[in-house]
Amino acid sequence: MLEVRELEAAYGKIRVLWGASFRVAAGETVAILGANGAGKTTILKAVAGLLPPLAGSITFRDQEIARLPPHQVARRGLALVPEGREIFPDMSVYENLLLGGRLQPSRRGVMDTLAWVYTIFPRLRERARQTAATLSGGEQQMLAIARALMSRPHLLLLDEPSTGLAPTAVETIFGVVKTLGAQGATTLLVEQNVHLALEIADRAYVLERGRIVLDGEARQLRDHPLVREAYLGLPVSRPPAGNSR
Ligand code: ATP
Repeated sequence: MLEVRELEAAYGKIRVLWGASFRVAAGETVAILGANGAGKTTILKAVAGLLPPLAGSITFRDQEIARLPPHQVARRGLALVPEGREIFPDMSVYENLLLGGRLQPSRRGVMDTLAWVYTIFPRLRERARQTAATLSGGEQQMLAIARALMSRPHLLLLDEPSTGLAPTAVETIFGVVKTLGAQGATTLLVEQNVHLALEIADRAYVLERGRIVLDGEARQLRDHPLVREAYLGLPVSRPPAGNSR
């Protein structure tokens, strides 16, 4: 579905990604883990067309998309939920969702998708007429994800969905990502909350200073010494698993 090879990116003279490679297969939930400033958001920006990479290739559904503008990437079926959520605060929940469906060709398709989105987020159905600004932080994150789902994307990109949310809201959001995964959705998730991310992901990559340093099945990575010590704050107790780079 998505294959990223040797991705390099910079902001002006500040190089942030130094040859990051990873892939997401159809139906997988894949997490990119890393500390503050490791370059996780930058990876998503490059994939979504918001930051043209310096070098490397990004293949999405067998087509090269590196350097395509964001609207063309979106048209190919890739939806980004940015960390800042970027919903329209003065519009109702319903209006925000309809905007998310604008790439769909038929109104019938939009309404069918809306009905499906409401089954995933019943809270949004209850709040359909409320303006987005009056939603709680957790509900705004739900709306941002729901709006992205309204385009029926082939691949959902989630940037730090847990940031700034109360624990119960985080639980709800991650529960939804898990449900989507069980329904066959393909998701690339960027997260600082390593513990939660490894609970819902099938596979994960660890990014350090713009380089992938480790990858593997999520349940193997939970036991990897680097992950246990540096990201989970746990003592090292078991032999290494996963593929060190
Ligand atoms: P966080 O979890 O804090 O969001 P991250 O892993 O997502 O971290 P990025 O946001 O990708 O990290 O940032 C990687 C590096 O690039 C950081 O050192 C950051 O300061 C720098 N950076 C990010 N955006 C810009 C920008 N617009 N201009 C200049 N430097 C930037």
